[in-house]
Order: sequence, then structure tokens, then C-alpha cells
Amino acid sequence: MTYLEHIEKLARDLNITIKWITDKYKSMSNVPTRIIRIVKPLNSFDYLVALHEIGHIQTTTWDDGESSIEQELKAYQWAKAHAIEWDKGTCAAVKYGMGTYLNNPFTVMEDIHTAKTAYQWVNTECRIP
Ligand SMILES: [Zn+2]
Repeated sequence: MTYLEHIEKLARDLNITIKWITDKYKSMSNVPTRIIRIVKPLNSFDYLVALHEIGHIQTTTWDDGESSIEQELKAYQWAKAHAIEWDKGTCAAVKYGMGTYLNNPFTVMEDIHTAKTAYQWVNTECRIP
């Protein structure tokens, strides 16, 4: 199964609508409408981004005061649990995506405890030196 086939299958099975875009840095998910905007996953980086956005749909709850870092971590953990491949490309996407939150003092201060957990999780799953 290709990355594209896997993402399309997950979307079908989970009743998620995909809107294809061309700029991967504008990837996003809309939890209430179950719409994700992603680029066609033709490499493992874009595949992980797609899994991550589906992960948001499946794991984000908006009514219990979750921090943004917690929402991110849960979406990445969902992606890891469902990925058919885990390699340098998927890890590059995890490091880039989680990094934008872990390098932001405001999101870290919002939830230092989960920030530490997220840093350790990335370090374990992707072996950052
Ligand atoms: Zn995210």
C-alpha cells in the first residue's frame, strides 16, 4: 500500500474529508467538520504530516482545556501508532512540527509538564542527539 492509498483509506474509514493543497506548511485539520487540508503524500515527510492531521481529528477535544502542546503530542502519537513506515522522513516531520511548539516559549510556558513529555517522546522515537 502506498502512502497515498493508506491516507485515503484512513480518511474513508474515519469519515474524514481531504482537501488537497500544494503548500505542506499550510496543512491543517478542522476537527468539527472533519476536514483536513494536506498535500498528496508522496514521501514519508508528507505522509507523516497527513497522519498527524488525521490524528488531530481523532484525538483533539476542545472542551477540556487541553494545551496546544498536548494536542500536538497526541496527534503525533496517533500518527506514530498508525504509520506503516517510520523513518528519517517521518522523523523530520515530527521534529519540524513538534519543534515549532517546543521552541516557542509561550506554548512551552502554557504547559511545561507536557512540553517535557513531548521533548522526551520525540527524543525516544526519533533519537535526537
Ligand atoms: Zn498539529
